[in-house]
Amino acid sequence: MNALPSSVAAMVAEHAASVDRDARFPSEAFTALKQARLLGAMVPRDYGGEGASLTDMAAVAHALAQACPSTGLIFAMHQIQVACVVRHGQGSAWHRDLLARLASDQLLLASATTEAGIGGDVRSSSCAVEGEGERFRLEKQATVISYGAEADAILVTARRAPDAPASDQIIVPLLRDQFRLEEIGGWDTLGMRGTRSIGYHLRAEASRAQIMPLPYADISAQTMLPVTHILWASVWLGIATDAVARAGAFVRAEARKRPGTQPPGARRLAELTALHQTMRGAVRGAIDRFDEAADSPDRLTSMGFAVAMNALKMQAAEMVVRIVEQAMLVAGLSSYRNDGPYSLCRHLRDAHSAPLMISNDRILGNTANLLLAHKDNASLFG
Ligand SMILES: Cc1cc2nc3c(=O)[nH]c(=O)nc-3n(C[C@H](O)[C@H](O)[C@H](O)COP(=O)(O)OP(=O)(O)OC[C@H]3O[C@@H](n4cnc5c(N)ncnc54)[C@H](O)[C@@H]3O)c2cc1C
Repeated sequence: MNALPSSVAAMVAEHAASVDRDARFPSEAFTALKQARLLGAMVPRDYGGEGASLTDMAAVAHALAQACPSTGLIFAMHQIQVACVVRHGQGSAWHRDLLARLASDQLLLASATTEAGIGGDVRSSSCAVEGEGERFRLEKQATVISYGAEADAILVTARRAPDAPASDQIIVPLLRDQFRLEEIGGWDTLGMRGTRSIGYHLRAEASRAQIMPLPYADISAQTMLPVTHILWASVWLGIATDAVARAGAFVRAEARKRPGTQPPGARRLAELTALHQTMRGAVRGAIDRFDEAADSPDRLTSMGFAVAMNALKMQAAEMVVRIVEQAMLVAGLSSYRNDGPYSLCRHLRDAHSAPLMISNDRILGNTANLLLAHKDNASLFG
């Protein structure tokens, strides 16, 4: 079990306010995570990693997000890319070498799927891989690349060739010395400020051997989509967990002031705890579902599985906002202050990124399409 050391969690929490205030990359956190060998933890032992499971990484993302949601989200986004290379790269020499480097050098991986004119429709690309022979060139107007400036490599989606349709995509890991980034937009946002999700014009040249062997459509369905929704939801659950903890601490402090009487927020706290438990159950249920299907491409690409993962994303993104808002009603003005132990201002700002990270409305539209053909099996376990 690869868990987050408590000393790292405490250090991450200590820097959370300055990461948010200055919209800066949480460098102290990532130095510590590298030292704890958590960035390459999912790499199989054969390549020098720890062979950690998705459950382990979800638990670490959840713990990090309780201390600093931006750090939790960066960790989650990195592990999504690692999962794609681990699950789909072992058949190719270049990607096996990348796995070994991930473990030995604890590389930080970023992602460039979003594109100008395409937005969050990750299953379409406008840019394309170009050039004859063994080398290729790629240019992308990547409107959002979180921690692009700090990443050691970026996994980029693109069309397979200039004449390929928008949905015929590949994904390719590009190393730091193979791409140049020119800023096309800053990052002064409401929340998740430490992710530094700046827009870039990306220009790259690399070897065709680096293109992941499986089409992106398959990598997306079998790994990127479910792992993204599970790890993002774990981060949002971490925000909710800390909000509930702060609301609980507030109620217990009130109870100590007036022994024998129930503080006014106590009933709301009970309601909140039930909501939080539901959210936790949804995340754990999705992890179990992924684990059960992990080795079966047929199950991973089934409509029922996609419906379940989409539902997790939409539900978790809505619940985190609701839970933080309810926690604010419990702790009142103390939660509305930017300072003090019961403050929930950053939680609220960070939580509001969740329904926008691949718009819930877009996901709702995708699920609606699937439900035209898919019928739930009406069993207890779905
Ligand atoms: C903190 C953070 C970090 C991110 N990091 C990265 C990253 O590292 N790499 C990366 O590639 N991307 C990243 N993203 C981008 C993210 O994954 C989405 O692509 C992006 O949030 C979508 O932006 P958009 O709302 O402007 O675009 P769109 O997806 O185009 O949506 C615009 C609006 O149109 C509406 N809409 C669009 N399509 C539909 C539809 N089918 N049905 C109904 N309504 C629809 C929605 O209401 C939506 O609000 C990040 C986003 C955030 C918030």
